[in-house]
Formats: sequence, C-alpha cells, structure tokens
Amino acid sequence: MNKYTEIHPNGQRAYQFVADTAYVRESGTKGEHKAAEYILKEAEQAAAQTGKSVYIQTPRMEFFQCPDFQQKKAELVICQPYKKAYPVRAYLNGACTLEEGITAPFLFVGKGDDISLSQAKGAVVLVCDPIREDTINKIKAAGALGFVTVCGTPLDQGEDRIPTQYRRKAGDLPGASVHYLDAVEIVEKQASQCCLNIQQSEISRNSANVAVRILGTDFPEEIVTVTAHYDSVPEGPGAYDNMSGGAMVMEAFHHFAEHRPARTMEFIWFGSEEKGLVGSQNYVKSHEGEMSSHVFNLNVDLAGQLLGGNVLGVTADPTVCAELKNLMEENQLGVTIKNQVWASDSNTFAWKGVPALTLNRDGFGMHTRHDTVEYISPRALEEGAKTLCTAAAWVANEPELSFEREIPEDMKRELEKYFA
Ligand SMILES: [Zn+2]
Repeated sequence: MNKYTEIHPNGQRAYQFVADTAYVRESGTKGEHKAAEYILKEAEQAAAQTGKSVYIQTPRMEFFQCPDFQQKKAELVICQPYKKAYPVRAYLNGACTLEEGITAPFLFVGKGDDISLSQAKGAVVLVCDPIREDTINKIKAAGALGFVTVCGTPLDQGEDRIPTQYRRKAGDLPGASVHYLDAVEIVEKQASQCCLNIQQSEISRNSANVAVRILGTDFPEEIVTVTAHYDSVPEGPGAYDNMSGGAMVMEAFHHFAEHRPARTMEFIWFGSEEKGLVGSQNYVKSHEGEMSSHVFNLNVDLAGQLLGGNVLGVTADPTVCAELKNLMEENQLGVTIKNQVWASDSNTFAWKGVPALTLNRDGFGMHTRHDTVEYISPRALEEGAKTLCTAAAWVANEPELSFEREIPEDMKRELEKYFA
C-alpha cells in the first residue's frame, strides 16, 4: 500500500471557496450560473499557478438542459366540518388536478397502511411523511384522487413553517405537502371534506457542468474522475450539501496539478444534481465514447461540518473496500467503509459499469435554509480533502489495480431499480 505524506490540502482555502458561493444555487438560476463561473475561474487560476499547461487542459463548461416542473398553483381548503385554507406546496411530479380543483372527502390514513387505504376511494388522503413512488402508486391503486403529506416538526416557527417542496418523477397523482402543525390541526378537527387544487407546468432549465482534465503520465488513456455537485436546493445555500464537496474537489485539483498522476484525471463539478443527478447523467451521455476508459469515480456529497464521521460508500467489488481500508489505516485517516450503492452522482458512473464511491459526512440542515457556511469547518474540509486525495492518488497512480472494472450483480440490480 501507499503512505502519502505529500498530500496537504488547504482547509482555509477550501472554506473560502464555500464562503464565496454561499447563496442559493438551484439548477438553471442565476445563483447556479454565478457559481459555475466562480468554479471555472478558480480552476483556471489553479491551473495557471502551476504553469503546467502541457498536461493540464483548459478548464471548460459543458452546458445542458435540465427538464423540470414548476408549481403554478397549490391550494388546500378544508370545507367540512369547518372552512380553512392551509399553506401547501405541490409535489413536483407533473400531475395536476382539474382547473377548478378536486372537491372530495378528506381522509387521514396514517402512513398509508392497507386497512386505512381501503376507505380511500374517491378521497384526498393525508399521509404522514413524504412519500415515494411505491406509496403514491399504492394510494392511486386504492382509488384516491389526490394526497397530502406532512413535513417539518412541531418545533418549527416563522419561516420554518413553510412546507417543503418535494419532487418525485413518478406517480401521476396530484399531491401537496403541508406543515406538521397544520396537519395536527386538520386531524384534530376531523376534516372530512376538502378542495385540493394543484397546477404545474413542464419547464427546461439551462445548467452546466464545470470540468478540467489532467493528462496522466503512464496511462493517459485511463480516466479517473473526482466529482461533486455544486447546485443546491431552492430552500437554502447548500454549504454542506454540497459546496463543501465542491471545495474538496478543487483541493484535489490543486494537489494533482502539482503532482501529475499516472492516469488521466478529470475533475468535475456537476450542476442539477438536486433535480435527479441530471448533470452527471448528461456527462456520461456526452462522453459516451470514452466511458469504457473510465476506471474509477470518486464523488463527494455532504461534507465539511465539524462533528460527524467520514464514510466511503463504495459501489464496487468488495476488494476495493479491503484495499481502501488498508490505505486509510496506513495513512491514519478515520473512515467507515460501506459497500453499497449511494444515492448521489457516483451511481451514475456505477450504472455505466465504472467502480465508484461517494465520500460522505453526517451533518445538519440538508435541504433547508439552515444549510449555511456557519456550520462548515476548515478542519473538517481539510481532513475530508485529504481522505479524498489519498483514495484518488491510489487509483490514479497504482500501476496495477487489484480490482475488476465491474459492478457486483446485486448492486447492478439495485441501480436498475434506482434509475427505473
Ligand atoms: Zn447533495
């Protein structure tokens, strides 16, 4: 194995990167574009500093269209046994009610068990928790006309009372989310009739990936990617999810620009991950011809807070986990290694047959307005970047990789389900 003593990421510089982009960066918005320009400039400067234009290609943007839905109307009015309108937000799944809304019986069905749902025909149902495709299908099969789900906590006040907007690709049943405290009132007062009006339209967002490539010395035809998404959800500035990951990828670029790898390395910051891995999907599509040259993907998603522990979610043969365990021990980097598929851009590569991992750290505030730079730590960024660089140095430099370029069958099946 390899002991890497020359890897010195800069936590303060990484922190500055996160602080400089501490605004909402939703796909297709000015914030996302501004962040893409910033990343491009940082990569250009990092490349220029080294003066190694012989093997560092010019940083570039790759533009693409991200399909999405936009809420036009979301209304929930309880009409029996009392009348009150509650603030709700539409499930962005493409489903609309009639223009005038659906007036129907209203039914609380707990978490959507079969017994409760047996009464749901022709009703709008209130379900606890956000729901997934299979639950939507179950509700639909029960004959319900629409659904309302519960979000938030009883401790929320002020702005935190705004319902969360969920997006689910599947399930053509109109739905909305309502805040916990409103849901409590609705159930308490035994709401029995409602009018639900959901209108949404299909839109297309202009988004971009930012990428820069370092040509390898010994195996330039083999490619290792180091990736993170830089877009955020509309609710908050996504410092933890995932500009911290973006900062670590930039630190990795700094390192390998100075320490030229044996294999070719591509550093990629994906747009539109929060809309369903759209940036990475676009990348593998537009680079289809060279995907067979990709040997490994190292992705970062959710990073940079001080408390918590680093996890490597490895979607590859178990031998990769064993190798990584030795490597991390050798370099005294504390991580937990998990051999499983990971719901981030690493899945996109694994789905294309490329062994992949996501570096992840637990933390606070994901997908909320509380995901701010205030909770990010230079020390955690530095440690995370060192872990990332160490793993990347191994796959990028090891003359003979000990693992096969394939994804285990059980993970393939899971990925198939994930992308279905
Ligand atoms: Zn993320």
